Amino acid sequence: MMRVGRVMLRPKIRDEIWGTAMYHAYSHYVIKNVELWTERGITQQCDIEVEKGKIKAIEREIMTPHGAHEISGHGYTLIPAGVDPQVHLRVPGQAEKETAGTGLLAALRGGIGAVLSMPNTKPVIDTVDVCEEAMVELEEAAHLTGVKAYLTGSITQNLKGKNVAPYEALAEWGVKAFTDDGVGVVDDNLMRAAFQASEKTGLPILQHAEFPGHGGVLAKGPMQEKLGIPAYPVSAEADMVERDITLLAEYPKARYHVLHVSADETLKQVAEAKAEGLHVSCEVTPHHLWFSSEDIKDDNTSFKMNPPLRSPSDRRALRHALQEGIIDFVATDHAPHETTAKGQNFKTSAFGTTGLETSLRVLLTLVREGSLSAERLVQVFSTRPAQFLGLASEFGDIAKARPMAAVLVNRNSSNIVTEADLFSLSKNSCFLGERLDGRIEAMFLGDRYYAF
Ligand SMILES: [Zn+2]
Repeated sequence: MMRVGRVMLRPKIRDEIWGTAMYHAYSHYVIKNVELWTERGITQQCDIEVEKGKIKAIEREIMTPHGAHEISGHGYTLIPAGVDPQVHLRVPGQAEKETAGTGLLAALRGGIGAVLSMPNTKPVIDTVDVCEEAMVELEEAAHLTGVKAYLTGSITQNLKGKNVAPYEALAEWGVKAFTDDGVGVVDDNLMRAAFQASEKTGLPILQHAEFPGHGGVLAKGPMQEKLGIPAYPVSAEADMVERDITLLAEYPKARYHVLHVSADETLKQVAEAKAEGLHVSCEVTPHHLWFSSEDIKDDNTSFKMNPPLRSPSDRRALRHALQEGIIDFVATDHAPHETTAKGQNFKTSAFGTTGLETSLRVLLTLVREGSLSAERLVQVFSTRPAQFLGLASEFGDIAKARPMAAVLVNRNSSNIVTEADLFSLSKNSCFLGERLDGRIEAMFLGDRYYAF
């Protein structure tokens, strides 16, 4: 066993991360000649001085002080480190899919500095005891990768949709939100109880909007028709969002967030509720931005995810809403599964694709193609989710006197994604075989410099 600080590193977690996430701890460094992106705009060339993990200066030119390390940023772009508010870290209890070490390593290699983990674990994160159990594992990996991991608590006990979870105890412990992600909350009174808890605790309610019973696997489209499997209708999602927004009107201080929006119809409901002044927000995944139901390859069950990929016109609407601000931010819904859980059969395969390593690269490609602005990329990848989770003092911006949390990318590089680009324990990525922009060169988290 090896001891770093107060954390005892178990050899397994150490081995998973070591070698791929070696870092230098530099108490004083200067990044030279880098392009800087923030939500305020693009600075084409500047130097950035960081001392004791904090940004000391950003200037056109900084003379590197004696004893400080100099890092060349020439040809590269520095972007605020990502914050991913929907990740299935599978901790505790599902080490066949993902571990704390591989999950946070995948985030690090994707330019993501903080993740919010979903509670559909074994056991479900519905008590303070399970929160503690999860953090014992996560703290070790967070220490090595520098990536912060936060928890959600479930809305209902054991995700069963029957009895409420102990909201106040969970909030007091420090969960960042409540969600039954994976299943929608069907019962009106349970949703009312969740909104009441949101008013009391200030925490958002994250809805996996899906009325059950539709039996669908893929959205209506060529592959769904070819396989002759039932279609997953838009109404399963849009009807639940409509119901939720109606109930939300009774709780004006509650915060309601729609996870992984897939359809134009849902966007219209969210836009209307926002116009009425309700506290409604929503997110989109990189895979719903990148693919439509017409892109599904028949031998690849990584394309089975919940909600499903929808029509090209839905994808167009999602991209437009992301740029225009109807969609608040991007979340990966990183959902690792071992090979046997995915299999080659769309009907029996588990839902989900991984996404931590490719999220920023998808967004960079959209910027080059012209459907997303650089400023908006920073907002949806970092600034807005940081604000949403109450992490804005640590994440979301690169500016003088702030803590350093940034990713260095080569925007001019691109490659076809292979398993060598994936660091998650599971390889069920629908992006394998896609050409994406960007090489993630390094991460800066406080006084740490991870070069890849
Ligand atoms: Zn979900």
